[in-house]
Amino acid sequence: MSGLTKLEEIFRAPAILTAIVMSLAACSSAQAQQSPAVVFQNVRIFDGKNGTLSAPSNVLVRDNKIEKISTAAITADGQVINGGGRVLMPGLIDAHWHAMLVRPTPAVALVDDVGYTTLLAAAEATSTLMRGFTTVRDMGGPAFALKRAIDDGLVAGPRIYPSGAVITITGGHGDFRHLSDLPRTIGGMLSRMEKIGASMVADSPDEVRVRAREQLMQGASQVKLTAGGGVASPFSPLDVSTFTEPELRAAVEAADNWGTYVATHAYTPVSIQRSIAAGVRCIEHGHLMDDATARLMAEKGIWLSTQPFLDVATASGLGPAEQDKMRQVVSGTDRVYALAKKYGIKTAFGTDVLFAPALAERQGAMLVSLTRWYKPAEALIMATSTNAELLGLSGLRNPYPGRLGVVEDGALADLLLVDGNPIENIRLIEDPAKNFLVIMKGGKIYKNLLPR
Ligand SMILES: [Zn+2]
Repeated sequence: MSGLTKLEEIFRAPAILTAIVMSLAACSSAQAQQSPAVVFQNVRIFDGKNGTLSAPSNVLVRDNKIEKISTAAITADGQVINGGGRVLMPGLIDAHWHAMLVRPTPAVALVDDVGYTTLLAAAEATSTLMRGFTTVRDMGGPAFALKRAIDDGLVAGPRIYPSGAVITITGGHGDFRHLSDLPRTIGGMLSRMEKIGASMVADSPDEVRVRAREQLMQGASQVKLTAGGGVASPFSPLDVSTFTEPELRAAVEAADNWGTYVATHAYTPVSIQRSIAAGVRCIEHGHLMDDATARLMAEKGIWLSTQPFLDVATASGLGPAEQDKMRQVVSGTDRVYALAKKYGIKTAFGTDVLFAPALAERQGAMLVSLTRWYKPAEALIMATSTNAELLGLSGLRNPYPGRLGVVEDGALADLLLVDGNPIENIRLIEDPAKNFLVIMKGGKIYKNLLPR
Protein backbone atom coordinates (compact mmCIF):
# COMPACT_ATOMS: atom_id res chain seq x y z
CA MET A 1 0.00 0.00 0.00
CA SER A 2 2.82 2.33 0.92
CA GLY A 3 4.15 2.27 -2.67
CA LEU A 4 0.88 3.51 -4.12
CA THR A 5 0.47 7.11 -5.10
CA LYS A 6 -2.68 8.92 -4.12
CA LEU A 7 -3.83 8.67 -7.73
CA GLU A 8 -3.40 4.90 -7.83
CA GLU A 9 -5.36 4.60 -4.59
CA ILE A 10 -8.18 6.55 -6.16
CA PHE A 11 -8.18 4.43 -9.29
CA ARG A 12 -8.23 1.22 -7.25
CA ALA A 13 -11.54 2.19 -5.75
CA PRO A 14 -14.09 -0.25 -7.19
CA ALA A 15 -16.71 2.44 -7.85
CA ILE A 16 -14.29 4.47 -9.96
CA LEU A 17 -13.18 1.38 -11.88
CA THR A 18 -16.76 0.46 -12.61
CA ALA A 19 -17.45 3.98 -13.84
CA ILE A 20 -14.41 3.89 -16.14
CA VAL A 21 -15.34 0.47 -17.54
CA MET A 22 -18.90 1.65 -18.11
CA SER A 23 -17.78 4.81 -19.87
CA LEU A 24 -15.37 2.82 -22.05
CA ALA A 25 -18.20 0.47 -22.93
CA ALA A 26 -20.39 3.45 -23.74
CA CYS A 27 -17.65 4.79 -26.02
CA SER A 28 -17.28 1.55 -27.94
CA SER A 29 -21.05 1.10 -28.32
CA ALA A 30 -21.28 4.70 -29.53
CA GLN A 31 -18.66 3.85 -32.15
CA ALA A 32 -20.62 0.78 -33.16
CA GLN A 33 -23.70 2.95 -33.63
CA GLN A 34 -21.99 5.51 -35.87
CA SER A 35 -23.95 6.37 -38.97
CA PRO A 36 -23.52 3.97 -41.89
CA ALA A 37 -21.73 5.21 -45.00
CA VAL A 38 -23.66 7.38 -47.45
CA VAL A 39 -22.69 7.71 -51.11
CA PHE A 40 -23.92 10.69 -53.11
CA GLN A 41 -23.80 9.55 -56.73
CA ASN A 42 -23.74 11.82 -59.75
CA VAL A 43 -23.56 15.24 -58.13
CA ARG A 44 -21.92 18.41 -59.33
CA ILE A 45 -20.09 19.99 -56.44
CA PHE A 46 -19.99 23.62 -55.35
CA ASP A 47 -17.06 23.20 -52.95
CA GLY A 48 -17.57 26.45 -50.99
CA LYS A 49 -14.39 28.02 -52.39
CA ASN A 50 -14.66 28.13 -56.18
CA GLY A 51 -17.43 29.76 -58.14
CA THR A 52 -17.68 26.87 -60.58
CA LEU A 53 -19.19 23.42 -60.31
CA SER A 54 -17.20 20.20 -60.53
CA ALA A 55 -17.68 17.57 -63.18
CA PRO A 56 -20.26 14.92 -62.26
CA SER A 57 -18.80 13.27 -59.15
CA ASN A 58 -19.44 10.83 -56.36
CA VAL A 59 -18.99 11.61 -52.67
CA LEU A 60 -18.50 9.05 -49.92
CA VAL A 61 -19.48 10.10 -46.40
CA ARG A 62 -18.50 7.88 -43.52
CA ASP A 63 -19.13 8.64 -39.87
CA ASN A 64 -19.18 12.44 -39.70
CA LYS A 65 -16.76 13.23 -42.52
CA ILE A 66 -16.34 13.28 -46.27
CA GLU A 67 -14.06 10.31 -46.87
CA LYS A 68 -13.63 10.48 -50.61
CA ILE A 69 -14.67 12.51 -53.65
CA SER A 70 -14.17 10.98 -57.08
CA THR A 71 -15.39 11.20 -60.65
CA ALA A 72 -14.95 7.40 -60.71
CA ALA A 73 -17.64 5.17 -59.24
CA ILE A 74 -17.54 4.68 -55.47
CA THR A 75 -18.96 1.56 -53.93
CA ALA A 76 -19.46 1.20 -50.20
CA ASP A 77 -21.86 -0.53 -47.86
CA GLY A 78 -24.52 1.92 -46.85
CA GLN A 79 -27.07 4.27 -48.28
CA VAL A 80 -26.88 5.47 -51.88
CA ILE A 81 -28.35 8.84 -52.82
CA ASN A 82 -28.66 9.34 -56.55
CA GLY A 83 -28.10 13.04 -57.05
CA GLY A 84 -29.25 12.95 -60.67
CA GLY A 85 -26.69 15.59 -61.65
CA ARG A 86 -27.91 18.05 -59.00
CA VAL A 87 -25.63 20.32 -56.99
CA LEU A 88 -24.05 19.25 -53.70
CA MET A 89 -22.83 22.15 -51.59
CA PRO A 90 -21.63 22.83 -48.04
CA GLY A 91 -24.20 23.54 -45.34
CA LEU A 92 -24.74 27.27 -44.84
CA ILE A 93 -23.23 29.16 -41.91
CA ASP A 94 -24.76 32.20 -40.19
CA ALA A 95 -21.96 34.17 -38.53
CA HIS A 96 -24.25 36.32 -36.38
CA TRP A 97 -27.16 34.47 -34.84
CA HIS A 98 -28.95 34.46 -31.50
CA ALA A 99 -30.36 30.96 -31.10
CA MET A 100 -32.15 31.85 -27.85
CA LEU A 101 -33.59 35.18 -29.02
CA VAL A 102 -35.20 34.48 -32.38
CA ARG A 103 -38.65 33.33 -31.30
CA PRO A 104 -39.45 35.07 -28.02
CA THR A 105 -40.49 38.69 -27.75
CA PRO A 106 -38.13 40.77 -25.58
CA ALA A 107 -40.64 40.50 -22.73
CA VAL A 108 -40.89 36.72 -23.01
CA ALA A 109 -37.09 36.40 -23.23
CA LEU A 110 -36.64 38.37 -20.02
CA VAL A 111 -39.64 37.33 -17.98
CA ASP A 112 -40.60 33.79 -18.92
CA ASP A 113 -39.16 30.64 -17.45
CA VAL A 114 -35.81 29.84 -19.07
CA GLY A 115 -37.00 26.25 -19.53
CA TYR A 116 -39.78 27.50 -21.79
CA THR A 117 -37.53 29.86 -23.76
CA THR A 118 -35.01 27.05 -24.23
CA LEU A 119 -37.75 24.81 -25.65
CA LEU A 120 -38.78 27.66 -27.96
CA ALA A 121 -35.17 27.94 -29.06
CA ALA A 122 -34.99 24.19 -29.62
CA ALA A 123 -37.96 24.37 -31.99
CA GLU A 124 -36.28 27.26 -33.79
CA ALA A 125 -32.99 25.34 -33.96
CA THR A 126 -34.72 22.58 -35.90
CA SER A 127 -36.22 25.15 -38.28
CA THR A 128 -32.78 26.75 -38.67
CA LEU A 129 -31.26 23.42 -39.68
CA MET A 130 -34.15 22.80 -42.07
CA ARG A 131 -33.32 26.10 -43.79
CA GLY A 132 -29.93 24.60 -44.61
CA PHE A 133 -27.99 26.47 -41.93
CA THR A 134 -25.91 23.70 -40.43
CA THR A 135 -23.76 26.01 -38.28
CA VAL A 136 -24.42 29.25 -36.42
CA ARG A 137 -22.06 31.54 -34.55
CA ASP A 138 -24.17 32.59 -31.59
CA MET A 139 -23.41 36.20 -30.68
CA GLY A 140 -25.23 36.35 -27.37
CA GLY A 141 -27.73 34.50 -25.27
CA PRO A 142 -27.83 31.54 -22.90
CA ALA A 143 -27.38 28.90 -25.62
CA PHE A 144 -25.08 26.44 -23.82
CA ALA A 145 -27.81 23.96 -22.85
CA LEU A 146 -29.36 24.10 -26.30
CA LYS A 147 -25.96 23.46 -27.89
CA ARG A 148 -25.43 20.51 -25.60
CA ALA A 149 -28.83 19.01 -26.41
CA ILE A 150 -28.14 19.39 -30.14
CA ASP A 151 -24.66 17.88 -29.87
CA ASP A 152 -26.07 15.00 -27.81
CA GLY A 153 -28.60 14.30 -30.54
CA LEU A 154 -31.64 15.17 -28.40
CA VAL A 155 -32.70 18.04 -30.65
CA ALA A 156 -32.15 18.52 -34.39
CA GLY A 157 -30.34 21.80 -34.86
CA PRO A 158 -27.22 23.47 -36.19
CA ARG A 159 -23.76 23.38 -34.71
CA ILE A 160 -23.55 26.30 -32.29
CA TYR A 161 -20.43 28.39 -31.62
CA PRO A 162 -21.66 30.01 -28.40
CA SER A 163 -20.62 33.35 -26.92
CA GLY A 164 -22.85 32.94 -23.86
CA ALA A 165 -23.91 36.18 -22.25
CA VAL A 166 -23.16 39.44 -24.02
CA ILE A 167 -21.00 41.61 -21.78
CA THR A 168 -22.06 45.26 -21.58
CA ILE A 169 -21.77 48.32 -19.34
CA THR A 170 -24.41 50.07 -17.27
CA GLY A 171 -26.75 51.59 -19.85
CA GLY A 172 -24.94 49.93 -22.77
CA HIS A 173 -26.34 47.77 -25.54
CA GLY A 174 -27.62 44.62 -23.89
CA ASP A 175 -28.54 46.31 -20.60
CA PHE A 176 -32.28 45.65 -20.57
CA ARG A 177 -32.86 46.71 -16.97
CA HIS A 178 -35.49 49.28 -16.07
CA LEU A 179 -34.58 52.67 -14.62
CA SER A 180 -36.21 51.49 -11.41
CA ASP A 181 -33.44 48.86 -11.13
CA LEU A 182 -30.86 51.62 -10.59
CA PRO A 183 -28.54 52.23 -8.88
CA ARG A 184 -26.36 49.21 -9.52
CA THR A 185 -24.13 48.01 -6.71
CA ILE A 186 -21.00 46.17 -7.79
CA GLY A 187 -21.19 42.75 -6.22
CA GLY A 188 -24.87 43.28 -5.48
CA MET A 189 -28.01 41.54 -6.71
CA LEU A 190 -28.03 40.34 -10.30
CA SER A 191 -30.77 41.45 -12.64
CA ARG A 192 -33.03 38.95 -14.39
CA MET A 193 -31.11 39.13 -17.69
CA GLU A 194 -27.91 38.37 -15.79
CA LYS A 195 -29.43 35.50 -13.86
CA ILE A 196 -30.48 33.76 -17.06
CA GLY A 197 -27.11 34.43 -18.72
CA ALA A 198 -28.44 36.62 -21.53
CA SER A 199 -26.21 39.62 -20.81
CA MET A 200 -23.93 40.70 -17.99
CA VAL A 201 -23.20 44.26 -16.87
CA ALA A 202 -19.55 45.02 -16.09
CA ASP A 203 -18.26 48.47 -15.16
CA SER A 204 -14.53 47.97 -14.62
CA PRO A 205 -11.71 45.89 -16.09
CA ASP A 206 -11.93 43.51 -13.13
CA GLU A 207 -15.64 42.97 -13.61
CA VAL A 208 -15.16 42.43 -17.34
CA ARG A 209 -12.48 39.85 -16.58
CA VAL A 210 -14.80 37.91 -14.26
CA ARG A 211 -17.70 37.94 -16.71
CA ALA A 212 -15.53 36.94 -19.67
CA ARG A 213 -14.00 34.08 -17.69
CA GLU A 214 -17.46 32.91 -16.62
CA GLN A 215 -18.51 32.60 -20.26
CA LEU A 216 -15.30 30.74 -21.12
CA MET A 217 -15.87 28.41 -18.17
CA GLN A 218 -19.27 27.51 -19.60
CA GLY A 219 -17.77 26.70 -22.99
CA ALA A 220 -17.90 29.96 -24.94
CA SER A 221 -16.03 29.60 -28.20
CA GLN A 222 -15.55 33.39 -28.34
CA VAL A 223 -16.39 36.31 -26.07
CA LYS A 224 -18.81 39.06 -27.11
CA LEU A 225 -18.80 42.61 -25.78
CA THR A 226 -20.83 45.59 -26.89
CA ALA A 227 -18.40 48.43 -27.60
CA GLY A 228 -21.09 50.92 -28.65
CA GLY A 229 -24.81 51.63 -28.64
CA GLY A 230 -27.35 49.33 -30.26
CA VAL A 231 -30.79 49.20 -31.80
CA ALA A 232 -32.67 46.93 -29.42
CA SER A 233 -31.59 48.42 -26.09
CA PRO A 234 -33.68 51.16 -24.54
CA PHE A 235 -30.89 53.29 -23.03
CA SER A 236 -28.01 53.17 -25.50
CA PRO A 237 -28.01 55.76 -28.30
CA LEU A 238 -26.28 54.42 -31.40
CA ASP A 239 -23.49 57.00 -31.24
CA VAL A 240 -22.21 56.15 -27.76
CA SER A 241 -18.96 54.34 -27.06
CA THR A 242 -19.34 52.17 -24.05
CA PHE A 243 -16.36 50.22 -22.71
CA THR A 244 -13.05 51.97 -22.09
CA GLU A 245 -9.99 50.56 -23.80
CA PRO A 246 -8.65 48.96 -20.55
CA GLU A 247 -12.05 47.29 -20.06
CA LEU A 248 -12.01 45.89 -23.57
CA ARG A 249 -8.41 44.79 -23.11
CA ALA A 250 -9.33 42.86 -19.96
CA ALA A 251 -11.71 40.71 -22.00
CA VAL A 252 -9.16 40.32 -24.79
CA GLU A 253 -6.57 39.07 -22.28
CA ALA A 254 -9.03 36.63 -20.72
CA ALA A 255 -10.01 35.26 -24.13
CA ASP A 256 -6.40 35.15 -25.32
CA ASN A 257 -5.36 33.23 -22.22
CA TRP A 258 -8.11 30.75 -23.10
CA GLY A 259 -6.90 30.37 -26.68
CA THR A 260 -9.71 32.34 -28.32
CA TYR A 261 -10.78 35.88 -29.20
CA VAL A 262 -13.17 38.75 -28.53
CA ALA A 263 -15.75 40.09 -30.98
CA THR A 264 -17.41 43.44 -30.33
CA HIS A 265 -20.72 44.89 -31.36
CA ALA A 266 -19.69 48.25 -32.87
CA TYR A 267 -21.25 50.53 -35.46
CA THR A 268 -19.22 53.72 -35.20
CA PRO A 269 -15.61 54.59 -36.07
CA VAL A 270 -14.73 55.34 -32.44
CA SER A 271 -16.12 52.09 -31.06
CA ILE A 272 -14.47 50.07 -33.84
CA GLN A 273 -11.09 51.78 -33.52
CA ARG A 274 -11.06 51.46 -29.74
CA SER A 275 -11.88 47.76 -30.08
CA ILE A 276 -9.01 47.25 -32.49
CA ALA A 277 -6.62 49.11 -30.20
CA ALA A 278 -7.62 46.75 -27.38
CA GLY A 279 -6.92 43.63 -29.46
CA VAL A 280 -10.43 42.70 -30.60
CA ARG A 281 -10.27 40.42 -33.67
CA CYS A 282 -13.78 40.73 -35.10
CA ILE A 283 -16.19 43.65 -35.43
CA GLU A 284 -19.88 42.82 -35.48
CA HIS A 285 -21.98 45.15 -37.71
CA GLY A 286 -19.79 48.18 -38.54
CA HIS A 287 -22.57 49.88 -40.51
CA LEU A 288 -21.56 53.42 -39.53
CA MET A 289 -17.82 53.06 -40.17
CA ASP A 290 -15.80 55.53 -42.22
CA ASP A 291 -13.04 55.24 -44.77
CA ALA A 292 -10.15 55.54 -42.29
CA THR A 293 -11.63 52.86 -40.04
CA ALA A 294 -12.16 50.49 -42.97
CA ARG A 295 -8.53 50.98 -44.01
CA LEU A 296 -7.39 50.25 -40.45
CA MET A 297 -9.45 47.05 -40.34
CA ALA A 298 -7.93 45.84 -43.59
CA GLU A 299 -4.39 46.72 -42.51
CA LYS A 300 -4.75 44.88 -39.22
CA GLY A 301 -6.59 41.88 -40.68
CA ILE A 302 -9.63 42.49 -38.48
CA TRP A 303 -12.77 40.57 -39.44
CA LEU A 304 -16.00 42.35 -40.30
CA SER A 305 -19.04 40.25 -39.41
CA THR A 306 -21.82 42.33 -40.92
CA GLN A 307 -25.41 41.93 -42.07
CA PRO A 308 -27.33 43.05 -45.16
CA PHE A 309 -29.87 45.20 -43.30
CA LEU A 310 -31.95 46.80 -46.03
CA ASP A 311 -35.10 47.84 -44.21
CA VAL A 312 -36.47 48.34 -40.72
CA ALA A 313 -38.24 44.99 -40.93
CA THR A 314 -35.21 43.72 -39.01
CA ALA A 315 -36.53 45.69 -36.04
CA SER A 316 -40.16 44.73 -36.57
CA GLY A 317 -40.37 43.20 -33.11
CA LEU A 318 -39.29 46.47 -31.47
CA GLY A 319 -40.79 49.88 -30.63
CA PRO A 320 -40.75 53.14 -32.64
CA ALA A 321 -37.59 54.56 -30.99
CA GLU A 322 -35.71 51.35 -31.78
CA GLN A 323 -37.01 51.39 -35.35
CA ASP A 324 -35.63 54.93 -35.71
CA LYS A 325 -32.22 53.66 -34.67
CA MET A 326 -32.61 50.81 -37.15
CA ARG A 327 -33.17 53.35 -39.92
CA GLN A 328 -29.79 54.91 -39.12
CA VAL A 329 -28.12 51.51 -39.30
CA VAL A 330 -29.85 50.68 -42.59
CA SER A 331 -28.62 53.98 -44.03
CA GLY A 332 -25.07 52.68 -43.61
CA THR A 333 -25.51 49.26 -45.19
CA ASP A 334 -24.51 50.18 -48.74
CA ARG A 335 -21.49 52.05 -47.42
CA VAL A 336 -20.20 49.26 -45.18
CA TYR A 337 -20.27 46.75 -48.04
CA ALA A 338 -18.66 49.28 -50.41
CA LEU A 339 -15.85 49.89 -47.89
CA ALA A 340 -15.42 46.18 -47.24
CA LYS A 341 -14.95 45.61 -50.96
CA LYS A 342 -12.79 48.70 -51.50
CA TYR A 343 -10.28 47.67 -48.84
CA GLY A 344 -10.65 43.89 -49.12
CA ILE A 345 -11.71 43.49 -45.49
CA LYS A 346 -12.29 39.88 -44.45
CA THR A 347 -16.08 39.88 -44.42
CA ALA A 348 -18.46 37.34 -42.92
CA PHE A 349 -22.20 36.97 -43.52
CA GLY A 350 -24.77 36.93 -40.74
CA THR A 351 -28.41 37.82 -40.21
CA ASP A 352 -28.73 38.88 -36.53
CA VAL A 353 -32.44 38.02 -36.39
CA LEU A 354 -33.88 39.07 -33.02
CA PHE A 355 -37.37 38.60 -31.58
CA ALA A 356 -38.92 37.93 -35.02
CA PRO A 357 -39.69 34.36 -36.06
CA ALA A 358 -41.19 35.58 -39.35
CA LEU A 359 -37.88 37.22 -40.18
CA ALA A 360 -36.01 34.02 -39.41
CA GLU A 361 -37.94 32.46 -42.27
CA ARG A 362 -36.07 34.95 -44.48
CA GLN A 363 -32.63 33.79 -43.32
CA GLY A 364 -31.86 32.40 -46.78
CA ALA A 365 -33.41 35.44 -48.47
CA MET A 366 -31.02 37.68 -46.52
CA LEU A 367 -28.13 35.70 -47.96
CA VAL A 368 -29.61 36.18 -51.43
CA SER A 369 -29.79 39.94 -50.78
CA LEU A 370 -25.97 40.03 -50.71
CA THR A 371 -26.23 39.99 -54.51
CA ARG A 372 -26.87 43.73 -54.25
CA TRP A 373 -23.06 43.96 -53.76
CA TYR A 374 -21.64 40.54 -54.67
CA LYS A 375 -21.89 37.97 -57.44
CA PRO A 376 -24.02 34.97 -56.42
CA ALA A 377 -20.95 32.72 -56.18
CA GLU A 378 -19.21 35.30 -53.95
CA ALA A 379 -22.23 35.41 -51.63
CA LEU A 380 -22.32 31.61 -51.41
CA ILE A 381 -18.58 31.43 -50.75
CA MET A 382 -18.98 34.02 -47.98
CA ALA A 383 -21.75 32.02 -46.27
CA THR A 384 -19.72 28.79 -46.42
CA SER A 385 -15.90 28.73 -46.52
CA THR A 386 -15.34 32.37 -45.50
CA ASN A 387 -17.66 32.12 -42.51
CA ALA A 388 -15.92 28.86 -41.58
CA GLU A 389 -12.59 30.68 -41.62
CA LEU A 390 -13.99 33.13 -39.07
CA LEU A 391 -15.18 30.22 -36.91
CA GLY A 392 -11.60 28.97 -36.94
CA LEU A 393 -10.53 32.02 -34.91
CA SER A 394 -11.84 30.11 -31.89
CA GLY A 395 -8.60 28.13 -32.05
CA LEU A 396 -8.34 25.63 -29.23
CA ARG A 397 -11.87 26.51 -28.08
CA ASN A 398 -13.38 25.43 -31.39
CA PRO A 399 -16.17 23.06 -30.33
CA TYR A 400 -16.18 21.30 -33.71
CA PRO A 401 -12.58 20.77 -34.83
CA GLY A 402 -12.47 19.83 -38.47
CA ARG A 403 -13.12 21.69 -41.70
CA LEU A 404 -16.53 23.30 -42.15
CA GLY A 405 -17.96 25.24 -45.07
CA VAL A 406 -16.27 23.18 -47.77
CA VAL A 407 -16.88 19.99 -49.74
CA GLU A 408 -13.43 18.41 -49.65
CA ASP A 409 -11.82 15.12 -48.66
CA GLY A 410 -11.72 14.95 -44.88
CA ALA A 411 -14.09 17.87 -44.25
CA LEU A 412 -16.99 17.52 -41.82
CA ALA A 413 -19.98 16.22 -43.77
CA ASP A 414 -22.41 19.15 -43.55
CA LEU A 415 -24.02 19.01 -46.98
CA LEU A 416 -27.01 20.25 -48.96
CA LEU A 417 -28.31 18.65 -52.15
CA VAL A 418 -29.97 21.44 -54.12
CA ASP A 419 -32.64 20.96 -56.77
CA GLY A 420 -30.96 23.29 -59.25
CA ASN A 421 -27.78 25.30 -59.52
CA PRO A 422 -27.58 28.01 -56.84
CA ILE A 423 -24.66 29.72 -58.60
CA GLU A 424 -26.89 30.36 -61.61
CA ASN A 425 -30.03 30.88 -59.56
CA ILE A 426 -29.17 31.85 -55.99
CA ARG A 427 -32.85 32.46 -55.27
CA LEU A 428 -33.20 28.70 -54.80
CA ILE A 429 -31.83 29.40 -51.30
CA GLU A 430 -34.95 31.46 -50.51
CA ASP A 431 -37.16 28.39 -50.53
CA PRO A 432 -35.26 25.71 -48.63
CA ALA A 433 -38.33 23.57 -47.98
CA LYS A 434 -38.73 23.03 -51.70
CA ASN A 435 -35.19 23.27 -53.05
CA PHE A 436 -32.97 21.61 -50.45
CA LEU A 437 -33.71 17.97 -51.19
CA VAL A 438 -31.18 16.54 -48.75
CA ILE A 439 -29.86 18.16 -45.59
CA MET A 440 -26.98 16.41 -43.84
CA LYS A 441 -25.06 17.50 -40.77
CA GLY A 442 -22.09 15.58 -39.42
CA GLY A 443 -22.83 12.70 -41.80
CA LYS A 444 -26.38 12.31 -40.50
CA ILE A 445 -29.31 12.87 -42.83
CA TYR A 446 -31.94 15.20 -41.35
CA LYS A 447 -34.00 15.58 -44.51
CA ASN A 448 -34.28 13.57 -47.71
CA LEU A 449 -37.03 14.31 -50.22
CA LEU A 450 -35.63 12.03 -52.92
CA PRO A 451 -37.59 8.89 -53.68
CA ARG A 452 -35.95 5.86 -52.06
ZN1 LIG B 1 -26.66 40.50 -32.58
